[in-house]
Amino acid sequence: MAVSPRICALIVAAGEGRRVGGDVPKQYRSIAGVPVLARTIGAIRAGAPDADIVVVINPLHRDLYDAATVGLGLAEPVSGGQTRAESVARGLAALASANPDIVLIQDAARPFVSAALVHQLISAVTSDADGALPGLRVSDSLKRTGSDDQVVADVARQNLWTVQTPQVFRFEAIAEAFRSHFDAHATDDVAIARAAGLKITMVEGERGNIKLTHESDFSDAQMRFEENMTDVRVGSGFDVHGFADGDHVMLCGVRVPHDRALLGHSDADVGMHALTDAILGAIGAGDIGVHFPPSNPDFRGASSDRFLRYAVELVAARGGAIAHCDVTIICESPKIGPHRESMIARLSAITRLEADRISIKATTTEGLGFTGRREGVAAMATATVRLPL
Ligand code: MG
Repeated sequence: MAVSPRICALIVAAGEGRRVGGDVPKQYRSIAGVPVLARTIGAIRAGAPDADIVVVINPLHRDLYDAATVGLGLAEPVSGGQTRAESVARGLAALASANPDIVLIQDAARPFVSAALVHQLISAVTSDADGALPGLRVSDSLKRTGSDDQVVADVARQNLWTVQTPQVFRFEAIAEAFRSHFDAHATDDVAIARAAGLKITMVEGERGNIKLTHESDFSDAQMRFEENMTDVRVGSGFDVHGFADGDHVMLCGVRVPHDRALLGHSDADVGMHALTDAILGAIGAGDIGVHFPPSNPDFRGASSDRFLRYAVELVAARGGAIAHCDVTIICESPKIGPHRESMIARLSAITRLEADRISIKATTTEGLGFTGRREGVAAMATATVRLPL
């Protein structure tokens, strides 16, 4: 093994999550404002900062995947198969050209694994062990029943474990095991590794490293994250764009018909710019110009959605969540009221906030100043962000 092994992490996210209610597969549902998949990726990165991460998805979920991972800087996802094992096989095949020393295989719905456990599992893969997995010793008594639920046998619990992920392997060994001893219905990767004769070490897992399976797991997880998010920050933003010839303006992501347009390098959406700066301000991450310099021609005419999305993802990458956004648009015209609902809907889609956590207000300056002279539109915004302490 190299002194500093090259590590890839395969996140298996191709499932339908049918055991949990709701329209969205569980790996794409949000917990405290951040999708489960993004939280799981964050947990793996915390333990293995240099790992290249590849996610295996159901291609029908591509839009959900893109929304959940924007800003995370991931490689192109791999299309999964019919079963979990098939999805892992495709992921391993996709990593063949990267040929890492070690691969971690993690279920997308396990966002609580600690950095220490990830680290320990990687260290457990040595010249003596082809792989390692986390497990918990069984502490309850075990019984076997017959088909009629009658107890037919006592089962000794000594040396029995319930197992978790990530399961970590020497890449070459597990890739070969999946080629030579593939079983489409294996419920975990160690089953296939063992069929191929690999040596696997059990590492003491964590009670908290649960796989989100039932609806109550989601409410418990929500509480766990929220309890910890006590670092509350408030940021403010301000922006102005001047009028030019045109027939509409973009305000908070909504195209508003007007007899003027707003002049700017991007789509000149003052509302979204002020809000983006407010969120960046709350997490001490500079301003919009730092991240999207006007000197970069890529941003000419850009839809300001991408600026706001980026700020939202920076918050998510820190395990935080936006709690509220308040935007005030300052102009004599156009009228904002008729568009308020669609602006809230637009911002809600990007920030993943409920509508009652988003406020859009409008005011004039009573004919005074540059907005009073109808030379342009100004916007100010406040955002509250909660970060883990
Ligand atoms: Mg601007």
